[in-house]
Formats: sequence, C-alpha cells, structure tokens
Amino acid sequence: MCFRPGGVAKAQVCPNCGKKLVPIGGVYQKKCPFCKTDFTALIEAAKKEAEAEAAAKKAAEASPEAPKPE
Ligand SMILES: [Zn+2]
Repeated sequence: MCFRPGGVAKAQVCPNCGKKLVPIGGVYQKKCPFCKTDFTALIEAAKKEAEAEAAAKKAAEASPEAPKPE
C-alpha cells in the first residue's frame, strides 16, 4: 500500500460495478473508468448529505441541552 497518510479523501465505490475508485488529487471522479457510470448526481447527493450532517451537528452544538424524550 502506498497511500499517503492524512487528508486522504474517502474512496468512492461504484454502485454499478462495485469497483473502488480513489479520488485523484482529492477530486472525485465523475465517471466510473470501468463501466462508465455517471457519478455527477451521486456526488451532488453525497455533498448535500454531508452539508445536512454538518448543519445538524452545528444545530446540536448550538443548543446546550438537547430535549430528552420522556
Ligand atoms: Zn463502475
């Protein structure tokens, strides 16, 4: 293995052929080089998910005490 430590972007897995794709220079590939599946929509969805997660985390940090369900 010759991965550089730290700051390595998460690898993509092609939902079509299941191959692992390593982002080049931290940039996700837009197309599967193996089966040519278009990832543009998937990348957008992942971005939105990450944004929603970050927003939820911020909201949780903003409220000092989360309401506990009784
Ligand atoms: Zn593929």
